[in-house]
Amino acid sequence: MGGGDRHVARMAEAAERAVEAGLAGLLVTPSADLVYLAGYDPPPLERLTCLVLRAGSDPVLVVPELEKLRAQGSPGGRLVELAGWRDGEDPHELVRRMLTNGASYGITDTAPAVHALALREGPGARFELVPASRAGLALRVTKDAEEIELLSRAAAGADRAFERIAETTFTGRTEAQIAATLGGLLREEGHDSVAFTIVGSGSNAASPHHEPGGRVVGPGDPVVLDFGGRVGGYCSDISRTVCVGAPPPRFHEVYEVVRRAQELAFRTIRPGVPAEDVDRAARGAIEAAGLGERFVHRTGHGIGLEEHEPPYIVAGNREPLGPGMCFSVEPGVYLEGEFGVRIEDIVVVTEDGARRLNEAPRDLHTVA
Ligand code: ZN
Ligand code: ZN
Ligand code: ZN
Repeated sequence: MGGGDRHVARMAEAAERAVEAGLAGLLVTPSADLVYLAGYDPPPLERLTCLVLRAGSDPVLVVPELEKLRAQGSPGGRLVELAGWRDGEDPHELVRRMLTNGASYGITDTAPAVHALALREGPGARFELVPASRAGLALRVTKDAEEIELLSRAAAGADRAFERIAETTFTGRTEAQIAATLGGLLREEGHDSVAFTIVGSGSNAASPHHEPGGRVVGPGDPVVLDFGGRVGGYCSDISRTVCVGAPPPRFHEVYEVVRRAQELAFRTIRPGVPAEDVDRAARGAIEAAGLGERFVHRTGHGIGLEEHEPPYIVAGNREPLGPGMCFSVEPGVYLEGEFGVRIEDIVVVTEDGARRLNEAPRDLHTVA
């Protein structure tokens, strides 16, 4: 299927699913959803850009007049009717004229409040706006073969970056220096861009989203590495915990608990299993070791065009897993003032189980 056909099919399906959800249509502002549906990726400017999808009508992309040529040149630009508006005109009125009073419409979760509120505040406007995810319209949850291929390439590049950083000398270098090397390796291994490179050493490893800084890494330091970027628009995200020389007391024990939790969670995954069961499997293993209070985050998050997206692998999410869903499995244990351990892989749900996209070794690796 060519790029154009793909976008046409996605927009038609989104409009159909909106109807199934009891909505008259969908309003999509600049976001990963707009990239997915229409292949258009404008910067998040203050002027209104909005794709209007309605069942039974052709898609209309409302754009600032000065952005019209750029929109036309994008993959989706040739597939939608473009409705330009000029500075001084009211773009919200332009959108409202396409909406039916008394109906409800889904709107991009991250649509700026200033636009969402203005759309509803027009004279005589009597329709409801519902965040798309709350209407059950998480459009990008199930990945097709092409998307899984890009996620696999991103994961393989991240694996190779880990294997290469693990061969470098950590001792005597700062977290920030190691993070910079890691970013370079991600690019060398095929990433178009680097999104984040967490390097948390020693007691900094106990802070899951530690910002790499000036701490000099030395013997006995556990180091949590968590990094990712993009390949063809799709994200990578991997965590490994290494140790510089001989680890501190209790480290081996905690490492094995996290490793086991990650393995048990992975083995829980198959179609039909509620997302929260995967979280429960990881959490159960960590609680059994008396460390439940130290596992301070959910087990995972979906990944695709965004680093974090549905499905969330968290207590309370009863949503059943299905083939083609891609998400992280990343249990961690964080001992404040001592160290932390996290092991993270991206996985894809298959017809009868799951497959890991990350295959970098999960055995404890000692670095120099
Ligand atoms: Zn994170
Ligand atoms: Zn991560
Ligand atoms: Zn993650």
